[in-house]
Amino acid sequence: MARVHLSGIGKTYPDGTSAVTGLDLDIAEGEFLVLVGPSGCGKTTALRMVAGLEEISSGTLTVGGRVLNRTPARDRDVAMVFQSYALYPHLSVRDNIGFGLQLRKRPRNEIKRRVEAAAATLGLTEHLDRRPRNLSGGQRQRVAMGRAIVRDPQAFLMDEPLSNLDAKLRVQMRAEISRIQRGLGVTTVYVTHDQVEAMTLGDRVAVLKKGLLQQAAPPQELYDHPANLFVAGFIGSPAMNLLQGRLDADGSAARVQLGGQTLAVPASLLERRPGLRAYLGREVALGIRPEDMDDAELRDGERETVLTSTTDIVEALGPELLVHFRLPAPPVVTDDTRELARDAGADGIDAAAPDSGAVARFSPRSRAR
Ligand code: ATP
Repeated sequence: MARVHLSGIGKTYPDGTSAVTGLDLDIAEGEFLVLVGPSGCGKTTALRMVAGLEEISSGTLTVGGRVLNRTPARDRDVAMVFQSYALYPHLSVRDNIGFGLQLRKRPRNEIKRRVEAAAATLGLTEHLDRRPRNLSGGQRQRVAMGRAIVRDPQAFLMDEPLSNLDAKLRVQMRAEISRIQRGLGVTTVYVTHDQVEAMTLGDRVAVLKKGLLQQAAPPQELYDHPANLFVAGFIGSPAMNLLQGRLDADGSAARVQLGGQTLAVPASLLERRPGLRAYLGREVALGIRPEDMDDAELRDGERETVLTSTTDIVEALGPELLVHFRLPAPPVVTDDTRELARDAGADGIDAAAPDSGAVARFSPRSRAR
């Protein structure tokens, strides 16, 4: 395992498309770093540059202290797992897993030993003589992992390895990848557009938007302290509600005017974020996570943190209820737990939020229907 260091990495394709710009990431030995972002944000390009499958236009890539910018992929000692698995259909599982070792002309005994050890780790021992077409999607995915593991590389690079699996298998394999990575302690860079995958797998998650790094932090920190509105809206499902309002103060108490309504800003929030005072008297984006909302009519007191709204749609998911409702702002979503505005106000109150709309009324009874 090795430290992977990207310093000012950029990629401009020959047609002039700038896919990645000035990417700085320092990935520690044994760390699991997830690159996440919407389609086209440059995450695959970034990974392929580390793998040596895409030329680096600018910046410096080092793995284990060696500058690799001009090193061919085969000499990089990193193993990539592709979304498509890229298995050889005519080879058995054994030969697929051992392929890289055969290419490197390792002794036959060693290949056998290493392939069988990888197969045991992945629960593939019984399937070693099968062809990929006779395996399930999850088993194929394991073979692709096996091919990476068996090489004992300095780093694993994974490009959406779970996206071809059904939802249930994806959850299983997600846990398995986590277990294997932690067991082997191999530095891993993992690309996904799925923020749940990113949050559950990553020691750290790096959020990209249009080729630019927005924030790289442990999952909980991204959730609790998003660096800007993009990260605030991207991390969390359903997404954080972003409402436009005006931050005002009355003595030591602060409040947000949302259309015709007023919402108190908890004093604790102002204490924790003294910088918010700089926004007094200004338009702000108020971020309230769906899980931080509650039904005011079912609770006592705290009327100052109550918003009136009308219910739009109710989605019962079993353990939770998603209530889409209308505020004097665009539709927002809550999954009906905890306290309204407990942690209101994303750190990144720095950009225009959606326009406010008409005043509406929240009808909690409709949730019980
Ligand atoms: P997805 O999740 O859809 O795979 P991504 O975040 O991995 O997206 P990339 O595939 O890295 O994004 O693409 C980043 C940008 O670079 C996109 O605008 C894409 O159209 C562009 N791009 C990718 N490959 C090429 C290429 N060979 N030539 C020109 N532009 C490219």
